[in-house]
Amino acid sequence: MEKLLHDKVAVVTGAAQGIGLEIARTLHHHGARVVLADLDEEATVRAAEQIGGPAGGCSGAVCNVTSEEQMQALVADTVDTYGRLDLFVNNAGITRDASLKKMQVSDFDAVITVHLRGTWLGIREASAVMREQKSGSIVNISSLSGKAGNPGQTNYSAAKAGIVGLTKAAAKEVAHHNVRINAVQPGLIRTPMTAAMPPEIFAQREADVPMKRAGEPSEVAGAVVFLGSELSSYITGTVIEVGGGRYM
Ligand code: NAP
Repeated sequence: MEKLLHDKVAVVTGAAQGIGLEIARTLHHHGARVVLADLDEEATVRAAEQIGGPAGGCSGAVCNVTSEEQMQALVADTVDTYGRLDLFVNNAGITRDASLKKMQVSDFDAVITVHLRGTWLGIREASAVMREQKSGSIVNISSLSGKAGNPGQTNYSAAKAGIVGLTKAAAKEVAHHNVRINAVQPGLIRTPMTAAMPPEIFAQREADVPMKRAGEPSEVAGAVVFLGSELSSYITGTVIEVGGGRYM
């Protein structure tokens, strides 16, 4: 049987670790050639080697998603190397948690810039190629924090809610070119980002999940494979929650 992403070319930002790395691994497993993009060159190349390396259709690229030039180079280099671009995953993210009382303007700006400017740049550059191709899928990683709002995350919740509005507006602009844009909202997922949380807060959040456990990065990756494949060919502008029922 042909693999779900046979012959497709995908880019994943923030792919050196965590959810992005697992998305890249899973897309590759389902037949895609994948470019992993992240800030740190060594970590990114190492991650790409783990999955299969350039000989296996898997390469690493340095890209700070907040840089217009680097995002343009990422998309152009992908098309130069692999000849097309079918799936672009805006996954890179950071947190700078603090209460409103303590949060600095720099914490707010940093989070908004990586998530919103980064995702917007990724959408703009990837969709320019895809509209010419007359096909493509863009998946933006939002968060359930953008649906429910988390205290201590006013910056992050605003950014992740903003990604939903951005997804829908952009999806409307490019739908008639057969380019689809959707968002995924993970809940509590076990990654280096959440490993930084105090264990008691992590346990408390886990207890709030109807399925009574945190999710794994592979469970987010499954939704991305679906949105990147022909199985979702008539789905655009939507948000898929991967949260074990949290905030349903
Ligand atoms: P993670 O383990 O911290 O991985 C994020 C990756 O993005 C890191 O490699 C990071 O590099 C990279 N990155 C940060 N800023 C970047 C930039 N400007 N340009 C390019 N890459 C950048 O986080 P994760 O938990 O896998 O999260 C991945 C995505 O899922 C994020 O958008 C996050 O908000 C979202 N999410 C996560 C959860 C969760 O529970 N983990 C839940 C909902 C949504 P450095 O390490 O060098 O900073």
